[in-house]
Amino acid sequence: MVRSTVAHVDLAALQANFRAIQAFLAEGGPEGPPLRVRRAEPSGPAAPPRIIAVVKANAYGHGAERVALALEEAGADLLACADIEEGVALRRAGVRVPVLVFGALSVSDLDGLFEYALTPTISTPAAARAVQEAAAKHRVRLGYHLKIDTGMNRLGFRHDNLRRTLPDLLGSANLRLEAIYTHFSTADMPDSPLFHDQRIRFEMAASVVDELAARQAPDVGLQEQDTTGGRVGGRRLPRHACNSAALLRDSRVWYDMVRPGLLLYGIVPPPIASTIPLQPVMSLTSRVVAVKGLRPGEGVGYGRTYQAETPRSIAVVPAGYADGLDTRLGGRGQVLIRGRRVPIVGAVSMDMLTVDVTGLDVEPGDQVVIIGRQGTESWQQIDAREMAAAIGTIPWEIVCRIGARIERQYSAK
Ligand SMILES: *Cc1c(COP(=O)(O)O)cnc(C)c1O
Repeated sequence: MVRSTVAHVDLAALQANFRAIQAFLAEGGPEGPPLRVRRAEPSGPAAPPRIIAVVKANAYGHGAERVALALEEAGADLLACADIEEGVALRRAGVRVPVLVFGALSVSDLDGLFEYALTPTISTPAAARAVQEAAAKHRVRLGYHLKIDTGMNRLGFRHDNLRRTLPDLLGSANLRLEAIYTHFSTADMPDSPLFHDQRIRFEMAASVVDELAARQAPDVGLQEQDTTGGRVGGRRLPRHACNSAALLRDSRVWYDMVRPGLLLYGIVPPPIASTIPLQPVMSLTSRVVAVKGLRPGEGVGYGRTYQAETPRSIAVVPAGYADGLDTRLGGRGQVLIRGRRVPIVGAVSMDMLTVDVTGLDVEPGDQVVIIGRQGTESWQQIDAREMAAAIGTIPWEIVCRIGARIERQYSAK
């Protein structure tokens, strides 16, 4: 049994997006080869950064298991998720590449890190102590990525007092530093100077970490157990910083690895433009369940927020806010029916919404495209970025909120 509202996830499009990002990185980005980032090894060849594919939050609502396996097949070097529980779900689905956990772990159940071979981020002194203790209990030396806070002021060791805060962590007998990273707070705001400040702070902080790490372990023999595959020469640890917006914006911050999320799903973070040929991965469709006539003066739905001035035809679509469709879409959003854009009118309710189909020959059973394409004209497509703009939110939220009761149907070609 399948409900009439379904999310279609195109795994071939996902893999094509992954490869398109790879090609963009190999070509050196929008500026082309001259600004291309050089690798850690001073004399080594310039190589494009490796990709950490971000599949947190159920792969941005697309379904973490299938998406993760498809990205692994496409060649992702690493996957990243938000917490240990998500990482465990990836391993249970059969993911074999290293899995980086972004979240802070000081209050987590840490056993999953060891049982499922996950790579934690250490971003606070409390997490450092907790993970060291757990690693000692499991009698292993666990590789981790170190997060530096360069201006987001959320998680991470502050960039400006590492000499005081890091030695304890670096001296932890059961932990092994594999990479250093930071996260940009304004990568999608072209006019914000903080982006460049964060870049400078990160580079200075990373040098300090390299220096402290080398002092702590002069004969760093980290290489053999480096689960993320970074080459640790004892001189410079692998670095990463880019989310999708930063990746598009500035090849100077590509460093050794990049961490795209949104781009993989075929969505470009607003307001940034992209030349990467991406395809949307998810579409959301439904079917008209009823068509109703409104007489002038009559309203529709809760609160009668829409009233007909002339005779109108209203189609009822069985998808509502319980399916993740924002209530603000009422009066603002559109859907596609019979190849036309029609407005969502009245309040979005829990299990249904109503659209004005006056003048169209609409019948129960007709396909409704809520996100996706219906026809070949450019206006016959509604994407997450457009929907987000219509209601004043961000496309990440649109896809992440697609409800749990909506079935994801996968196509691979
Ligand atoms: C979510 C996340 C990303 C990916 O962000 P996008 O904007 O979706 O590309 C990268 N890094 C970290 C630390 C994240 O939490």
